[in-house]
Amino acid sequence: MDELLYPGLQDVEATASAGPVVSRRERWERKIDELLIRYDAFVERHRLKPGRFLAAALLLGAVTTAATVYTAGYAVVVDGQTLGVVADKAQYEAIERKVEDRVEVILGRDYSLDGHVSFARQLVAKRDLSDLSGFETYLFNQVDEVTRGYVLSVNGENLCVQADSTQLAALLDRLKAPYMNENTVVAEFTVPVGLTCEYVARDQLTDDLAEVEALLTSNTREAVVYTVVKGDTYSGIASRYDMTVDELLAINPQASLNRLMVGDELTVSASVPYLGVRTVDKVRYEEAIPAPVEYVDDDTMYQGDSKTLEAGADGSQMVDARVTYLNGMEQQRDITAVQQLTAPVTKVVAQGTKERPKTMAKGYFIWPVRGTITSRYGGRSLFGTYNFHGGLDIAVPYGTSIKAADGGKVITAGWHNSYGNYIVIDHENGKQTYYAHNSKLLVSVGDRVYQGQVIAKAGSTGNSTGSHCHFEVRVNGQRQNPRNYLP
Ligand SMILES: [Zn+2]
Repeated sequence: MDELLYPGLQDVEATASAGPVVSRRERWERKIDELLIRYDAFVERHRLKPGRFLAAALLLGAVTTAATVYTAGYAVVVDGQTLGVVADKAQYEAIERKVEDRVEVILGRDYSLDGHVSFARQLVAKRDLSDLSGFETYLFNQVDEVTRGYVLSVNGENLCVQADSTQLAALLDRLKAPYMNENTVVAEFTVPVGLTCEYVARDQLTDDLAEVEALLTSNTREAVVYTVVKGDTYSGIASRYDMTVDELLAINPQASLNRLMVGDELTVSASVPYLGVRTVDKVRYEEAIPAPVEYVDDDTMYQGDSKTLEAGADGSQMVDARVTYLNGMEQQRDITAVQQLTAPVTKVVAQGTKERPKTMAKGYFIWPVRGTITSRYGGRSLFGTYNFHGGLDIAVPYGTSIKAADGGKVITAGWHNSYGNYIVIDHENGKQTYYAHNSKLLVSVGDRVYQGQVIAKAGSTGNSTGSHCHFEVRVNGQRQNPRNYLP
């Protein structure tokens, strides 16, 4: 066996330098073909004597196996040190070029490896061919200006390089920590953040994390769209975003102070972290199930009136949810499971269907007359003496129509030394209204009046200076500030 194997291989060796790898393989195959032809001739000559046949078959198998297991290769020797064996010189040269190219990128200048390389031809078992990445590592290690380092990158931009990953990993954990709790199942940055081990320029290494930490924990103020929800006010929204109402209105010229509607979009100036953190919490909590309300018509009650017949009761349920936050602000709540604990009990409410008489109080007031307020409700000093003003004085031209602030029954229509010609309407809901100093009264005691009905003409009778309407509101007999009851 030995005899046959080695001469053959040496033959291949001797001619290998003339051609590429492929031709060597072809030569092997040709060699095996030759052997097969010789074997055929052998079988023909000896007419299948079993013992000899078996020996020949074993011989053939061995040659085939040898070709599969062994190959010609080159030992790579750099500066006198053998690095390993490659099948082809070009493989080693390609690695050299790759390392040089990479070093040039890292250092930002031309670079050539300066080791002396030689190759020694030798036979090698295929499994003993060197792992090419080992050459790469060796060559990188020869470059003093380059070393392995941990690179922290944000959005593709390298921010910091350290020899060890511990501090950088701890910094990334610190940035996420404020948004995490025992229910957090996901915590990730909103932009790509990388911590990779790679070859870097040695002079890039730093121990100082302060600068990068300051950058990563910094906030910028950015314009963010806020959508108005129920219960929002301008001052509430402004204070939530550390703004004044004036600042909020200044960047929302379309907004009107008098009108803020659910669903309106306002631009707010929000503090946005340099590095956003998205977290998902898996939470479980109990919440109320609002009692459903069933309305039943009642023709004994007036339209707009209602009465609770059965109080009902809220139920309760256990909810499992995944809640997504961006920098701690809830973005989305996905309910994953709901388990009812107690069922809600329906609330039953009777609602009136009977037509409401026009003269019946609506429960709110309109202005009896529009004009300049010349005296407000409350204490005042007049010519050095203090007195209390129990109503609202509204100056209007003589003869202006005075209207009932709400529907009701006229209980006074007459003269009073102070009030002059005045009217009192009882609204039959605990409230009464007074209209004083009139020039003329248009209704009488016992009349029923509707809201907005003209009941008198303005004047300046009684204790009065100038034509005006003195308007009073009394609730359960007590004077109230009319301003609190007017739109
Ligand atoms: Zn008055």
